[in-house]
Amino acid sequence: MNLDFTTIRVDLIHTFTVASSSSKFRNTVVVTLSDNDTNGTGEAPSSSRYAEDDTSITKFLEDARDTVTRLDDPFCIEELWVAIDRLSTENMAAKSGLNIALFDLVGKKLGVPVYQLLGLNPAETPITSFTIGIDQPEKIKLKVAEAEPHPVLKVKLGQGDLDYDIIKTIKNATDKPIRVDANEGWQRDEAVRKIEWLATQKVEYVEQPLPADRLDDMKWVHERSALPVFADENVKRASDIPGIAALFDGVNIKLAKAGGITGALKAIHTARAHGLKVMLGCMVETAVASTAAAHLSPLVDYADLDSTLLTKNDPFEGVKIVDGKLVLGREPGLDVRKKT
Ligand code: MG
Repeated sequence: MNLDFTTIRVDLIHTFTVASSSSKFRNTVVVTLSDNDTNGTGEAPSSSRYAEDDTSITKFLEDARDTVTRLDDPFCIEELWVAIDRLSTENMAAKSGLNIALFDLVGKKLGVPVYQLLGLNPAETPITSFTIGIDQPEKIKLKVAEAEPHPVLKVKLGQGDLDYDIIKTIKNATDKPIRVDANEGWQRDEAVRKIEWLATQKVEYVEQPLPADRLDDMKWVHERSALPVFADENVKRASDIPGIAALFDGVNIKLAKAGGITGALKAIHTARAHGLKVMLGCMVETAVASTAAAHLSPLVDYADLDSTLLTKNDPFEGVKIVDGKLVLGREPGLDVRKKT
């Protein structure tokens, strides 16, 4: 197999602000694996939270080149995953890029879509939420209007008293269900107080209320929480789940955290074994990575795969979002292509 990769810049429609960071664009690495006449495309998005940027991603891919090109049989997806996972304990986005590309390649070789390779029913994809970043109330009003076609909103909080104004502004404009993501932005007592209020505002659940290292506080919050709480920053890969399973009601699994489709499958099944709800999330990324996640989405309860709705220069197209529902193509592999 041959390995190629290239870095591209993805521009966001709005400056995207969460409790921990703010950005106008992100770099993402597009990965290509080729075997004879067949190409597979994957993607490794950068993430400041997990210290992966295009420099560290491309370095890992260069370090993994020997392992990848030595794989004789491209159908040995699991074998390649284990081999590249052994190269480093981190670099999960880079591993994800390689794994997605191999799934695309194998699907094309077999002439089947990736969801079929996984034994999943494409009619069972969930509705994706549409994310509204932190902003002043007048901008929030505009964003809610832009979100008109999307039936479920995911709202970023974690900015002190502004949190109340953001939710009140949205509730004045729409009655849509809301999911909240605090991105580690609250402290213990604040979290319990705010979740109690959010429960009166038709909010469905709250993601990552506390900083990931506050496990004792999280236990305290979970025992008092008026809403289900989901782990995001507390869980990267499957092996992180047993240690936090008693502190949350669900987990947000992302391909770029778990190590691609193979790693996300392991994480989803581990979460289920612990009785947790599962949502599937994304980074700021192109349609390549979002479509890969969408192929797995029939397995999960909730999806937040809206990156393609938040960016303005995505060179790829793949999964479609119709009235919020993820609609997968029927062509072999990921069914992702360059826009013409
Ligand atoms: Mg999150």
